[in-house]
Amino acid sequence: MNFHIVTLPGDGIGPDVTNEAVRVLKNIAEKFGHQFSFEQQLIGGIAIDETGSALPDETLRACLNADAVLLGAVGGPKWDDPRAKTRPEDGLLAIRKGLGLFANLRPVKPHPALAFASPLREEKIRGVDFVVVRELTGGLYFGKPKERRQENGHLSAVDTMEYHDYEIRRIVDLGFKLAQARKKKLASVDKANVLASSRLWREIATEMHADYPDVKLDHVLVDTAAMRLVTAPASFDVIVTENTFGDILTDEAAVLVGSMGLLPSASLGEGTRGLYEPIHGSAPDIAGKGIANPLGSILSAAMLLRHSLKLEDEANAIERAVDELLSEGCRSADIAREGERVLGTSEMTEQVVKRVISNQ
Ligand code: NAD
Repeated sequence: MNFHIVTLPGDGIGPDVTNEAVRVLKNIAEKFGHQFSFEQQLIGGIAIDETGSALPDETLRACLNADAVLLGAVGGPKWDDPRAKTRPEDGLLAIRKGLGLFANLRPVKPHPALAFASPLREEKIRGVDFVVVRELTGGLYFGKPKERRQENGHLSAVDTMEYHDYEIRRIVDLGFKLAQARKKKLASVDKANVLASSRLWREIATEMHADYPDVKLDHVLVDTAAMRLVTAPASFDVIVTENTFGDILTDEAAVLVGSMGLLPSASLGEGTRGLYEPIHGSAPDIAGKGIANPLGSILSAAMLLRHSLKLEDEANAIERAVDELLSEGCRSADIAREGERVLGTSEMTEQVVKRVISNQ
C-alpha cells in the first residue's frame, strides 16, 4: 500500500529521534511490502528562524495532504524570550487546530524490566496498562471570556471552562470504542460535584453508555483519579477526560513509566489522519549528542501505523521489537542502571530494526 507521511522534526532532540523513527518505518515498509513516501517540513523554533512563523503555511498544507504526520519536539532556550511575538509552542497549538485534532491518546504500559525506574514500588506497577484520552479543543484553554479586568481598583483575571455537547460526545465515543477493543473499562473523569461543564459531561457519558453495554463505565472525580493513578494504577483501562484535567493527569501518568523518553502519543480527529509524537520535549541538555532515547518516537510511529494507516500487524511488529529489546537488557542512558552498558540513539534503533526484520 502507498502512504505519504510528513515529518516535522522540530528542535533539540526532535530531529535526533524522528530520523530514527523514519528509519524503522522504512524497514517496516520493506518487510511488509508497502511504499511510504516521506516529506520533511518545518515547525517550532527552527521554523521561526527560517520563516518567522512557528507553523509556516507550507507545513500546514503539506500535513493536510498527508496520510499521517510524525512530529519530534519544539522549543528551547534560544526561543524562550517572554517578549517574543511568536513562540515555538504556538506551532503545536496551530497544527492541532489546523488538522482538526480533538483527541490526544497516551498509552501507559511500564515495561516489567524497567519497574526499578518507576517512582512507585514494583508491586504497584505490575499489570499497569492503560490509555488516557484527553480532549484537546475545549475547556479552560480556549473558552471565552479569557481576560484581565480592572474593577473597583482591583485586578482580576478570568478563564472560562466551556464544553459543547458535540465536543463531549465525540471524545467520549472514542473512549468507549478504545475500551471495547481493550479490557472494556472506561473511566470518565470529571468534577461533577462542582462544575457545570462536568455535569453535562457526566450526563452525556451516561446516556452514551446505552450504545456500549459491553463496556463498564465508571465516573471518577478528577481528585480521586489523581490519587488512584499512584495508589492503584493497574485498575485503569481507558481514561477519558477534558482538556485541563487531561493535561495534568497525562503527565502524572507518564512519570509511572520511569523515563519521558519511552512514551508515545497520538492526536486524532474525525478522519484517519493523525499527528504522532513522543511525549517528551526538545531536551536541549542532550540535543545532538546522540544519546537521546528514540523509543518514544519509534513507538509513536507504531501508533501512526495502527491509527492512521490501519496497519495493525506492522504496529505490533514494532511494539514487539521494543518489548523484546527491553527484556533483553538494551538500555539508553535515561533507563540504564549503574554499570549497565549504554546504547546511543542510533544503536537503540538498530536493536529495533534487527528484531523487526528477523521476527516472523
Ligand atoms: P524535556 O522533555 O525536553 O526534558 C526533560 C528531561 O528529560 C531532560 O533532562 C531531558 O534530557 C530528558 N529527556 C527528554 N526526552 C528524552 C529522551 N528521549 N531520551 C533521554 N532523555 C530525555 O522537558 P523540558 O526540559 O521541560 O523542556 C525542554 C524544551 O522542550 C522546552 O523548550 C519546552 O517548552 C519544550 N517542550 C516541548 C514539548 C513538545 O514539543 N511537545 C513538550 C514538552 C516540552
